Amino acid sequence: MEYRPLGATGLTVSVLGYGASSLGSVFHPIDEEAGIRSVRTALDLGVNVIDVSPYYGSTAAETVLGRALRGVDRDSYVLATKVGRYGEADFDFSAARVTASVDESLARLGTDHVDLIQCHDIEFGSLDQIVEETLPALRRLGEQGKVRHVGITGYPLPALTRVSARTPVDTALSYCRYSLLDRALLAEAPRFAEAGVAIMNASPLAMGLLTRKGPPSWHPAPQPVREAAAAAARHCTDAGVDIAQLALRFAVQPQAFATTFVSSANPDNIARNVRWAAEPSDPQLLAEVERILAPLRDATWPSGRPENNVGGE
Ligand code: NAD
Repeated sequence: MEYRPLGATGLTVSVLGYGASSLGSVFHPIDEEAGIRSVRTALDLGVNVIDVSPYYGSTAAETVLGRALRGVDRDSYVLATKVGRYGEADFDFSAARVTASVDESLARLGTDHVDLIQCHDIEFGSLDQIVEETLPALRRLGEQGKVRHVGITGYPLPALTRVSARTPVDTALSYCRYSLLDRALLAEAPRFAEAGVAIMNASPLAMGLLTRKGPPSWHPAPQPVREAAAAAARHCTDAGVDIAQLALRFAVQPQAFATTFVSSANPDNIARNVRWAAEPSDPQLLAEVERILAPLRDATWPSGRPENNVGGE
């Protein structure tokens, strides 16, 4: 496993991170025992950073993760959770709610602190409120020792760069924005670096698009993107390779990203992902896949408030 600094936090994280959304059965119902073994397998294989949220499975992911981490040395992993998003359309970035939310998360996770607390999907809220109310409330929790660092997450990059330019944040996480289907997160890396923000990349498999099984029904990608991804997956299968292997390796390579979060509640997938992240891909097959996906490259979808999907500073 390769490790990189998490920006200026002083923490060092594995290039492949464990995304715990699967533990909340967001993709399909899971077997909790297999979910717990997945977390333990990831840690055993050198993964040392975990991302979760109260939103995933309406708190179920945090609860299962808390069970999985019981008895594990708290200093051996970097734990990140989130505040502000609690349902598909349930957002509350007020100081009172996020302050209570951290205590609820700590109880579910069975710990007295998280290493990183993130505002979840800020594009659905008022960026003024995030800057003026939410982040200051989280920093106050830092003074109490409940959180060590603060960050922001979301899909549209303008929301993340605008907030990063206005106020100090330690990390910014975006998803589906650097994969075989999209390069935007790497293009924005200099802006984040200038603001002193560590970049965390998420969803290297584009939330299931870049898998043999394909995406869940709720996936927001437009139909042409789904079709191109399915064609690329078939092309890889015909060549005897799982497209997830190419996708994983592709996503973890840029040194500009501290880590890349991938999610699974299947221990075999975890072991494969760790191996695939470290193994070079077949360059010819990669070029063929790139050609299939090229017409849909960087196709995006709107997320949150329209004004938070445009602009930048
Ligand atoms: P992902 O790209 O990791 O895809 C997950 C899907 O791929 C699941 O269906 C999983 O079963 C499947 N999968 C995983 N490994 C596989 C393998 N080896 N073979 C075949 N299928 C495999 O997308 P994700 O789960 O959305 O993102 C990963 C993590 O990133 C999340 O758990 C979360 O921690 C973080 N994330 C954060 C945000 C946010 O903060 N707004 C948004 C998205 C993701």
